[in-house]
Amino acid sequence: IGGMAMLTGTASIGKLTAAETKKFNPRPFNSPVRLGSNENPYGPSALVRKAMQDNFDLGCRYPWAFNNPLRDMIAEKEGVTPDHIVLVAGSTEGLKITGITYAGIGDEIISGLPTFLSMMEYAKVWGADINWVPLDKDMNYDLQEIEKRVSAKTKLVFLCNPNNPTGKLLPANDVKDFCNAVSQKTMVFSDEAYYDYIEDSSYPSMVELVKQGENVIVSRTLSKVYGLAGIRLGYMVARPDIAKKLNERVVANTNIMAIEAGKAALQDQDFYKFSLQKNLEARKLIEANLDQLGLDYLPSQANFVFFHAKQDVKVLAEKMQAKGVIIGRPFPPYNDWCRVSTGTLEEVAFFNNALNETLG
Ligand code: PMP
Repeated sequence: IGGMAMLTGTASIGKLTAAETKKFNPRPFNSPVRLGSNENPYGPSALVRKAMQDNFDLGCRYPWAFNNPLRDMIAEKEGVTPDHIVLVAGSTEGLKITGITYAGIGDEIISGLPTFLSMMEYAKVWGADINWVPLDKDMNYDLQEIEKRVSAKTKLVFLCNPNNPTGKLLPANDVKDFCNAVSQKTMVFSDEAYYDYIEDSSYPSMVELVKQGENVIVSRTLSKVYGLAGIRLGYMVARPDIAKKLNERVVANTNIMAIEAGKAALQDQDFYKFSLQKNLEARKLIEANLDQLGLDYLPSQANFVFFHAKQDVKVLAEKMQAKGVIIGRPFPPYNDWCRVSTGTLEEVAFFNNALNETLG
C-alpha cells in the first residue's frame, strides 16, 4: 500500500511547529508560488543534503555498473531481486525509453486522455501511432474501452494511476482484472508516480503482477513525496528479462550524487511521513476554500487537486500569474478545469487568496 495509508488520525491543519521547522528546515516563502508541476517544496530533506555533501568527492567516479547500492535498496523495498529494477534519471526517462523500446514505426500505444503525455509524445516522434481513449464520464481511465481496442498492433498500454491531471485512483480490482487480461496480449505500463499518496489501502501495487511474471512495467519516482524533482531519479520494476532489455538502454544514466540522494531519501522515514502529512493538510486547505467558493473538485489521491474553475484555465492561469501564482495549464478537453499542486501551507494560503480575489 502507498505511504498515505500509513498515516493515522486526522491532521490538525496549521503552520509548522517550531520543532518541525527546525528538523525539516523548509525554505522561506518565495513568490512566484510554483503550484503547476506537482513538486514537493519541502524537499530535498536535510538528510539528503548531508548525504550529497558527505559524498561529494565521489563525483570524480563513474556510477556503479554492477551492484549499485541504490538498486539493491529499491529491490529490497519492493520485495524483488535487483535484476527487476531499472534506475532512471527521473521517471520521464523510463517512460521515454520504454516507449521507443516497445513501440516502433507503425506500432501502437493505447493511452487514456488526458494523462501524463511523455511516453506518447516521445514515441510519436519515433514513428509509433497513439490510440487515445478519452476518460469516461466520471473522468476515470476507460479500462473497458482500452481493452476492446487492443489489437495485434498494440505494443504498449499506458495506464496512469492515480492519473495526472485528475488525481483519481481506479478501483483495485478493476485494475488487476484489466492488467491480467490485457498483459497477455501486450505490455502494460503502470505509471505510479503518485503511488505514495494513495489513501485507499486496498490498492495493490502493480508490482504484485510483476512478481507473478506478467507483462507489466511499474514506474515510480522520487520527484514527488521524496521531494527530489530536480535531482532526477526514478525507477521501474519489471520481470528480469524486461528489465534487462531496458537496462541496456540506460547505461550510466543516474549520476552518483542522485544515487547518494536517493539512498538517503529512502531511509529518511521521518521526512517521508512529514511530506505525506503536510500534503494532506495542504490538500484540505485547498478543498475547504473550493467548498466555500462552491467549486467542484475530484477526489484526489495525489499531491494536487483538479477543480472545476468554470472558466478558461488559460486565462485564469494568466490572471493567477499576475498575482504571483503559477498553476497548471489546461488539459483538453477539460479546458475549464484547473490542476493545482499542494505547496507548503503558506503557499496554499497565498494561492487561496489569489484565487478568491480572481474569482470573487
Ligand atoms: N508520471 C507522472 C504521472 C507525472 O505526473 C510525472 C511528473 N509530473 C512524471 C511521471 C515524471 O516525473 P519525473 O520524471 O520527475 O520522475
